[in-house]
Amino acid sequence: MRVCAIAGGVGSARLCAGLARVMDRRDLTMIVNTGDDERIRGLHVSPDIDTVLYHLADLTDWQRGWGLAEESFVAHERYQSLVEKLPGGKDDLQDWFALGDRDLATHLLRGRLLDLGRPLGEVTQALAEAFGIESTVLPMSDDPVRTVLTTTEGERLDFQTYFVRRHHTDDLSNIEYTGAEQSTPAHGVIEAIQGAEVVIIPPSNPVLSVAPILAVPGVEKAITRSAAIRAAVSPIVGGRALKGPADRVLSALGHDVSPVGVARIYKGLIDVLVLDAVDEQHAPDIEALEMRPVVLDTIMTGPEEAARLAKDILDAVA
Ligand code: GDP
Ligand code: CA
Repeated sequence: MRVCAIAGGVGSARLCAGLARVMDRRDLTMIVNTGDDERIRGLHVSPDIDTVLYHLADLTDWQRGWGLAEESFVAHERYQSLVEKLPGGKDDLQDWFALGDRDLATHLLRGRLLDLGRPLGEVTQALAEAFGIESTVLPMSDDPVRTVLTTTEGERLDFQTYFVRRHHTDDLSNIEYTGAEQSTPAHGVIEAIQGAEVVIIPPSNPVLSVAPILAVPGVEKAITRSAAIRAAVSPIVGGRALKGPADRVLSALGHDVSPVGVARIYKGLIDVLVLDAVDEQHAPDIEALEMRPVVLDTIMTGPEEAARLAKDILDAVA
């Protein structure tokens, strides 16, 4: 069964790692958000791609949700100590963004391959292969598409400033995906959607992680027109996000903080909404949106739980 996942960060990476355990992993393609990408101290960092790569390669710190297991931060601490002693120092030296020592190797290799003129899609696939991943990992686009957030104070923030530097505490009034209109899907993206029998939107932030992918021209249409069974998993469980600001962001933009709110966002795009057992009471409202509700235990506390959820989803849609 060919499965195509529309992937954000940690929630997506967890479910995709689960999928890779219960299906032929060569039939799995992940189309990953690059709206969070940022140039950090000269290196091209793709946080969602790295989260997916590290999970699929079984190298992640599952509890922390990002980065590599057994990581150290010697280079980062040295950098911070130099920044403290720097004369002047009003500029943003990005010392708030930690890059682990092992993680640095990923960014160095990605940067070098990009400097050699290779497109991000090819570079991402090369990295996936270097990590021993047999599934296909594609960025949504080779072109720069960046999520820009406007606060209720009218400030415009790039994603990492909002998320990491300011700990996603700002109240938001608007979210844009700059560069999306002029972008084209990376090589293989549309083909992967068209060739899939199942398209899955894992539990990810609908407006910060999934919407940037859908904003790349052609992607949403390919999903809408696809003959695949299309399913999303609610990232909202019991009225809250399991981590991150999805609950506050959805509410700020006027969405219901529930699987029903998630279902409304994806209306027309999906046939099935997977909701957590604690939200079972919302199933009739989801049916009223002309989607099939599937109630499962959706909390992935480890690789085994992720594999079980992946299998339950495939069984429910197959
Ligand atoms: P980020 O880019 O790393 O912040 O992550 P994503 O956008 O992919 O995912 C964040 C969302 O995924 C949050 O709203 C979480 O509630 C949700 N999430 C993370 N892990 C799980 C899980 O195990 N189960 C479910 N249902 N949702 C999850
Ligand atoms: Ca992300």
